[in-house]
Amino acid sequence: MPAQADPSTRGPIVALGEIVVEIMAEERGDGFREPLTLRGPFPSGAPAIFIDQVAKLGHPAGLIASVGDDDFGWLNLERLRRDGVDTSAVRVHPDHVTGSAFVRYRADGERDFVFNIKNSAAGQTRITAEAQRLLSGCAHLHVMGSSLFSFRLIDEAKRAIEQVKAQNGTVSFDPNVRKEMLNIPEMRAALEMMLQYCDLFMPSGPELLLLTEATTEDAAVAEILSLGVSAVVVKRGSEGASFHDRTQTLHAPAFAVAEVDPTGAGDCFGATFVTCRQQNRSVADSLRYANASGALAVGRRGPMEGTSTFAELDALITARS
Ligand code: ATP
Ligand code: MG
Repeated sequence: MPAQADPSTRGPIVALGEIVVEIMAEERGDGFREPLTLRGPFPSGAPAIFIDQVAKLGHPAGLIASVGDDDFGWLNLERLRRDGVDTSAVRVHPDHVTGSAFVRYRADGERDFVFNIKNSAAGQTRITAEAQRLLSGCAHLHVMGSSLFSFRLIDEAKRAIEQVKAQNGTVSFDPNVRKEMLNIPEMRAALEMMLQYCDLFMPSGPELLLLTEATTEDAAVAEILSLGVSAVVVKRGSEGASFHDRTQTLHAPAFAVAEVDPTGAGDCFGATFVTCRQQNRSVADSLRYANASGALAVGRRGPMEGTSTFAELDALITARS
């Protein structure tokens, strides 16, 4: 399927938030209280995966973030640059180390983590002069709940959103939140703020009920649309995804694949959906591409290793149609 709009005529898609490395335990089991064989570092961070996926689709893409002046930071910067991301607004912080996430899968598929994010360089993300320059041409800004882990970062996100909205850009939000995070009062306040601001809301199924008063998914979607959000896309893992706005509801099934590593699927899905919509593709086409992107992401080990080009997405879609 040919692109329906020349992407170069639109400003970049910009993401804001944490860059980290992921280091994973090879054996399944509980936690890290014993010596383990580890694999990594892999480039990671939900906003970084998101923006890498946008760039892989050949669309202008930029990231506002902060890394340390260390190998974990440079590993990420080199990957993002190689894939075409504008990293001019990634601050290389002299005094903080790059964030990290150690992950181990339990036998039941759940994950245990050891994070160093809040006190890492990721906590130092700021709307610098370079970030303002990137935002000045930005057509669409993407923010994730997992990035709003301090009052300062919430304020920085708000500044970025206000700048983009003032120039008629749009904003998407993926809560990407775990239940425990909602016990942090500033986190709940930030999520509510984001629902006031965003045009496109992209939760995973269970997050819908976490963030609303509603007890059913339909009621939760109606509640969110009534806040002024233009569209809601619900991600459902191996069940695919649904799109809702005030005029239509559309469901698209997932592509059946063997799940190797689910980390990053939601980010690849979201990036592909947003990119396709920025390129004026229909909702149905955008959902199909986004499901293909999520499916290819779960098929590869490593959080950012599963980002795809349009050629790769087209190959999967053609093979299954
Ligand atoms: P994340 O763990 O990255 O936060 P998420 O909860 O935001 O993920 P998911 O619903 O798990 O998002 O996955 C996003 C999309 O990826 C799904 O809507 C689907 O298109 C695809 N996907 C995820 N898991 C599978 C799977 N097992 N098989 C096929 N497609 C999948
Ligand atoms: Mg998610």
